[in-house]
Formats: sequence, structure tokens, C-alpha cells
Amino acid sequence: MGIKRYFNDFTALFFAQACAGCDAPLVDGEKHICTSCWYHLPETHAHEDQHNSSARQLWGRVRIEAVASYWYFREASRVKRIIHHLKYRNRPEIGTVIGQRYGAILADAAPFNQADVIVPVPLHPKKLRKRGYNQSMFFAKGLAHSMRLPVVEHGIIRRRATQSQTRKNRYERYENMLETFEANDIGGIAAQHVLLVDDVLTTGATLEACAGTLLENGAAKVSAVTIAKAL
Ligand SMILES: [Zn+2]
Repeated sequence: MGIKRYFNDFTALFFAQACAGCDAPLVDGEKHICTSCWYHLPETHAHEDQHNSSARQLWGRVRIEAVASYWYFREASRVKRIIHHLKYRNRPEIGTVIGQRYGAILADAAPFNQADVIVPVPLHPKKLRKRGYNQSMFFAKGLAHSMRLPVVEHGIIRRRATQSQTRKNRYERYENMLETFEANDIGGIAAQHVLLVDDVLTTGATLEACAGTLLENGAAKVSAVTIAKAL
């Protein structure tokens, strides 16, 4: 037994990881998500349908080529537990594993496979300090690996914390989000078809604001993908 293998087995004793979706112990070859969960995860197949519900949500709001989400997000579901581990339990590599899988699918799906660069939705610096990582960046890394695309990590940055949205009407919320993002690496996005990536699509306000910012700053086209879509 090689020393590395020994070390891996040794550390596994103390850090035996459970599946992020169902808590079952992972077996050899499984990373973060068990085989049974992969089989049961609710794929949207949105990349096959230009008029999918994620895309329709952005219609009339921003000029975006295509939108797709990998899974449906339901309460008390495997997807919800996986996203929770990804964001709040210090397991950012889950995002990379998901990105690799989804990227392998998107590599054959137009127009996603015509993108030039990947840009993750940024976290606010305060949140980033607290969490230690941007989960969307890890998802982006996995996508980049399978789609053979570069990541422009700081293509967009957040200017300030998003204020509470609860007391604002829809237009005010939109205005608020617009103020939140700005292009940072203009050289990296100019004249590019940008694949914008985020964790969960809920109201669409974040994708809308980020896509708008990218287009205003010279991106030729924007498509977007998320890990999950709230129902
Ligand atoms: Zn599982």
C-alpha cells in the first residue's frame, strides 16, 4: 500500500464524508454525492428547451441568449440539502463536482457550448470573508473543466451589500440590484459570449442585473446557467 493511499485511508477514518444529498456514507469513487442521489436528482433538461421555465422567467427583462438550470429545487429535498452543504457547511467542492457533471451535458448543448468565457455571480466581500469561498466560483470551475472554457473570476464584482428587499416593490428591487454589480475585468468580457453562472435561480433579479452589467460593459452575448431552479 502506497503512503498516499495509506494517508487517504487514514484521513478518511476521521473525515469520513457523508453524501450531501442523503447523508449515506460515501463509498470508494463517490465524491460528495452518492450514486443513488445522482440517479434520483430531479433534472430539468432545460438545456433541451429554449422556452424552459428558467428562460421564460428572464424574458422581457434582459437580453439573454439562453438560460438553463440543472435541477429543480424543492423544500425538504436532496437538492436543498446539497445546496445547503455547498453554501453553509464548508463543502465548496460539491459545486465543482456538480459543475463537471453539468458541464459534460452543456458541452453538447447550443448555445451554451458556444460561450467564450465563464463568469460566476460574485458574493459580497463581507459574505465572502465570512464564508471563505464563493460557491458559484466552485461551480464555475467544474463547468470550465468539462466545457474547456476559461473562467473570468472577477468579471463582475459587488459594490455593496444588497439591502433588504422585502419592503421594496419590484422596480425598486430591480434598481437596487442594478446598483449592486459592476464590471471589473472589462478586458476579459468585452466582445465575448459570457456564460454567467449562479447557484439557485429564484426571482431572477441577480441574473438580470449581472447580465445587464455584462452587456453594458461590452459583452457580446450572455447565457446563464444555475445549479437549481426554485419552484
Ligand atoms: Zn445520497
